[in-house]
Amino acid sequence: MALTLATEVVTLTTRHPFIIARGGQSEYGAVWVRLCDADGLEGWGEADPSAYYGETVETVLTGLRRLAPHLPADPFDLEAAEARFAEALPRNGAARAALSAALHDLVGKRLGQPLYRLWGLDPVRTPVSSFTIGLDTPERMRAKVAEAASYQILKIKLGTDRDEEILRTIRDATDKPIRVDANAGWSRERALAMLPVLEEFGVELLEQPLAPEDLEGIGAVRRAATLPVVVDESCLIATDVPHVARAADGINIKLAKCGSLREALRMIATARAHGLLVMIGCMIESSLGITAAAHLAPLVDVADLDGAALTVNDPFVGATVDGGPIRLPAGPGLGVRRRAVAP
Ligand code: MG
Repeated sequence: MALTLATEVVTLTTRHPFIIARGGQSEYGAVWVRLCDADGLEGWGEADPSAYYGETVETVLTGLRRLAPHLPADPFDLEAAEARFAEALPRNGAARAALSAALHDLVGKRLGQPLYRLWGLDPVRTPVSSFTIGLDTPERMRAKVAEAASYQILKIKLGTDRDEEILRTIRDATDKPIRVDANAGWSRERALAMLPVLEEFGVELLEQPLAPEDLEGIGAVRRAATLPVVVDESCLIATDVPHVARAADGINIKLAKCGSLREALRMIATARAHGLLVMIGCMIESSLGITAAAHLAPLVDVADLDGAALTVNDPFVGATVDGGPIRLPAGPGLGVRRRAVAP
């Protein structure tokens, strides 16, 4: 019997406006997807559209309507279902990722096992997640560092003309490990000039220094760098991995980019075959979206799964990253439930 699809738009509010090199805001639309089977079981997933990748809540809702006829009669038919979704809507990663997560959730619930167990993973073997400090005035960034006191690793957004000042502000406020993400905001010259600054402030990882298509430039930055250089915007799906492998030390995987849990697994395998470091990241998401990604965390080296921790109105309870350690829920499927009382 066919699965039925229900959608609900959720507006997530961040504690502070979440600003990166190309802008930002405080309100983020997400789409909660539920697939219901004839026995009354429900598989849940979340779409977190990113305007940068051409998606909005509206394109997700339109996309889901177009994908509904391609839903499998049998939720265990995951591989073929995802292939049909990708063929029908190749550019709508967030919309497809929600259906992928919902199907995996339903399969886990039918089997009575958490997703990490279906994949043969040890939930304790997860890296510590970083917590992101968005761009702001020095005073507010100091306050954000103080608010993030419980977190062990901070990720700092750069890509501005005052990056040295930002790093000095953060370093004056904390001696924690810091990672930086320029979100494609630097030129080659600027990136090369920033490398000694990153070293001076003890930065341990650099994400996406240059424009996504400038792999030659990213390769030059990486050769000059003493810290690992990871690409995010340059690497969306598994077939991107061989192209970026010569330019970067690692890749940052996000479900909203790659469009499915199985594609994320393929990205991890392809990255490993190229000797790359593997990072898992997120958009601003609720705990439903974060939990789908967190089930992959035992397979990666670096995690930045703070999307729900940055919000103040998370409607779901699932994986947590309090203080940094990623804790996976033990319930079947994704193991996510609705929060009983709105926060
Ligand atoms: Mg990034």
